[in-house]
Formats: sequence, structure tokens, C-alpha cells
Amino acid sequence: MLTRVKSAVANFMGGIMAGNAGAEHVNGTELPMKFPYSRPEFLGLSQDEIECSADHIARPILTLRESKRLPWGTGYAEVINAGKSMHNEDQGSCGLVTVKKKSSAPITPSKNSTAKRRSSLPNGEGSQLKDNSESEEITFNYWALFDGHAGAGAAVVASKLLHHKIAEHLQEVAGVLRNSAVLPPTCLNDEPEVVSNARTLTRAASLRGSMGTPGSPSSPPTRFFIEKKIPHESLVIGAIENAFKEMDMQIERERATYNISGGCTSLAVVFLMGKFYVANAGDSRAIIVRNGEVIPMSSEFTPETERQRLQYLACLQPHLLGNEFTHLEFSRRVQRKELGKKMLFRDFNMTGWAYKIIEEDDLKFPLVYGEGKKARVMATIGVTRGLGDHDLKVHDSNIHIKPFLSCTPEVRVYDIAEHDHDANDVLVLATDGLWDVLSNKEVAEAITSFLSNCDPDDPRRYTQAAQDLVMKARGVLKDRGWRISNDRLGSGDDISMYIIPLLHGTKLT
Ligand code: MG
Repeated sequence: MLTRVKSAVANFMGGIMAGNAGAEHVNGTELPMKFPYSRPEFLGLSQDEIECSADHIARPILTLRESKRLPWGTGYAEVINAGKSMHNEDQGSCGLVTVKKKSSAPITPSKNSTAKRRSSLPNGEGSQLKDNSESEEITFNYWALFDGHAGAGAAVVASKLLHHKIAEHLQEVAGVLRNSAVLPPTCLNDEPEVVSNARTLTRAASLRGSMGTPGSPSSPPTRFFIEKKIPHESLVIGAIENAFKEMDMQIERERATYNISGGCTSLAVVFLMGKFYVANAGDSRAIIVRNGEVIPMSSEFTPETERQRLQYLACLQPHLLGNEFTHLEFSRRVQRKELGKKMLFRDFNMTGWAYKIIEEDDLKFPLVYGEGKKARVMATIGVTRGLGDHDLKVHDSNIHIKPFLSCTPEVRVYDIAEHDHDANDVLVLATDGLWDVLSNKEVAEAITSFLSNCDPDDPRRYTQAAQDLVMKARGVLKDRGWRISNDRLGSGDDISMYIIPLLHGTKLT
């Protein structure tokens, strides 16, 4: 078992150019790709340029061309890893997405699929499709980063499709969101159902079918119809959560047809009606830098931060551990000679530590093992939320990892009208390659300092700031290693980042 675990760890950590190794055991290379490997569309790179960007020795930092603009003047920069995988496995997607009114007329499948595609094209194309229902449209700005592992397939698919899923789910509640005077009714049809006192959702709505209509002779006492108030922003959060779930299900479904290798973390931001919705599943990170101060907008989901959820699941369904792992955590690896002795441990219900007598079962490998960036679930993976990974197994076993990996994002909301912003206030999104080597404080100081010295009218200032940050995290090649300030180790991972100016959003409210 130990040999197997060591081998699994070595495989996951990867050697030079091991990036596509996962594809072989996942789907088989004979399956077609759902989408060809590429860099983010908004970079507008040719195939030759994509190949040049994958130079693991030079590690060129890619930014937007002069001719390219992202919404709000958003800055973007990226760099490939130092050799851990052949491709840059980060992906990105950004644009203005239009959610059209849901048609009440019967729609043929082909027409429906076209309408859906048009309704949510990235990079603002969707907004050009005006028709008689224009006034019924809502639009949202969208920025997303996906950090792939064990292949780029899942990250590429998510970068092409997640915003469509979000648009489709927002379409379900668009009628309610458009009319701020009307809070969500119990049922949402194309024409929202009007029910008496329908300013709230009814918790007991599902009981109506069997218990009759409130107020009718057969209706139960009114105390059973407690009205639960659902704020509009909760409807947006629900739409995003369900979009993540549907994206994950589509990857699971289509992996039999396409080569959708590996999995990916997902950090997606929706700006809708004056609020940022920052949805994170994985170990990328979002922070707001306002007046030089850091406001965290996400938390990372790792084996350490999610230990109790993982242990609880394993405790409820021990068969998921395949008789190879224990859900308990010990202060160190238990050895056979310690049977019958006391050791400190933690179960799912504990944040503190206590002693227990070591038994035979405790000799199994821990479900969560390792510290910091080396912590792993079942000695296999270092993130606990994301999309894909449906075929990921413990090395040389039939034990699936997926039940422990959740596709559910944490969504945080930031109301831009609640604060004053200036041109140096930004929302920063970046994959873990940046945060591995730079702290929130260092990033905030670097951005504030850089922007303060820029021409405020320079439209490329946020892109230049992103380029500067990626350079600070990558460092320079010195003595066969990448080094950053104070001779610290630079990041050897892929790095992608957006810098989004908040002042632009303020103007939209
Ligand atoms: Mg990474």
C-alpha cells in the first residue's frame, strides 16, 4: 500500500512534461476532443503563437495585444509553468453575456439550441443580437479562470461552456430580477405567477399539490405556510451554483464521447445589477484591493481546509475508502509497533485534538495526509472542489476520488454601490501559481504602487499591472531556478490573472 501511495504521489506531482499522462487512462486518446486545446480566445493567438508561448525555458508572459480590449479595460496576463506539464493547463474566459427573455412559444430543439448559443456568446457578441424583446434582456459581465490538472480537457470545456450554463439558469429567474418591485413568486413561469401576498417564496409550496390551495375549505392551518423571504441575490447565487453542477454533469456525461481529460478548479465572477458574485471551487483566489486594503473574496478549498467535510463523508460511507484508508487524522503516520498505544487524533466532529488507543484500523493510510501544498486526499489530489475528475482513482486501485471532490462553489457577493472607489481599486483574480509565492499584502502593495505611477488615461494600465505581477511571481531564471525578490523561489506553476478596475462598475450602477 505504501508503495502504491508513494507512486501515486509521484505521479500526481508529475515529472517534466507529464501533463497529458492522465488522458491515457482516463478516456483513451482515440476519442475526439470536445474542443481543441487553445489559449483564451480573447488573446487572439495563432497556432504558431500558442506553440511559442509554451516555451518552458523562456516562459514568456502573455498579455492582451494593443488591438484587444476586455470589458472595463480589464488587465490580463499569463505564463506557462516551468515544466510540470506540456501545456499551460490554466484557461480563461471573459466577456459580456446576454440573458434573453425565456420564450413562451414552443421551440423546436434545433431552434432552441441556437437561441441558447446566441443568448450567451462571450466577448460581447451576444449583446449585438437585438430584437423586439431587447428591453427584456439582462446582461452580465463575466470573468473566469480554470486551473486544470491531469490534462487540459476539463478546463478547456469549462472555459467554453460555463457562462452559457450561468446564462441559462439566470434565464429562469430573469423575469423576477428585472422587476425589482416584485419579489420571487412561488412558481416561476414565463409570465410570473401572481399569487396573493406573493412577495416571498413559500417554503411549503411542495405541499400544495396534496394539501389543497390556501384559503380553500380543505387547506391546512395557515401556520404551515410560513413565507420565507428570498433576496434577489440568492436567486443569482442559486443560478451560479446550479450552473456549476450542470457543467460538472455534462463533463461526466460527455467523457464517454470526447476526450475530456482530468479536472479543473473554477473561479468565476458575475457582475449583475451592481453586484459582483465571486464563485470559487478550488484553490484559485479573488481579492479586492480598495484604498490599498485587502478584502478577501474567496477561500481556498484544499484537503486541509475541507478536512471535516471529507472525514464526515467517509464516516457516513466507509465503502468509499475501499478498505485502504482511515477517515481519522493522526498527529503523525501511525506505525504497527504503536498498536495499543495512545496517539493524538481528530475525527470529523473535532477542530481540536484528543488521545485514542491505536487499533488495527488506524494503521490504514489517512484520508487526508500532508501539510500545506503537499496535503492530499487519498494521496492523490491537492484540491477538493472543482469540475471533472470523474475517472480519477487512487493509483493502481479501483477507489474513486470524485465523491470527495465537490463541484459546489462558494459564492461571495460585493455590492459596488456600498463603497466609494477610485481608479486604483481593483478586483484581482488569479490561479494558485500566483498566490503560492506572493501574499495578498504583497499583491495589493504591488498593484497600488504600479497603478499610482501610471498615466490614469492609459487604457493598458491594468494589463501592464497584471504583467508586472506575473513577472514578480514568476521571477527570473537564475542558477537553473526561477527566483523572485529576496532570492525566494519563484512560481513554477502556470499563472493566470485578471485585474478588474472597480471604478468602471461604479459607473454602471
Ligand atoms: Mg495551478
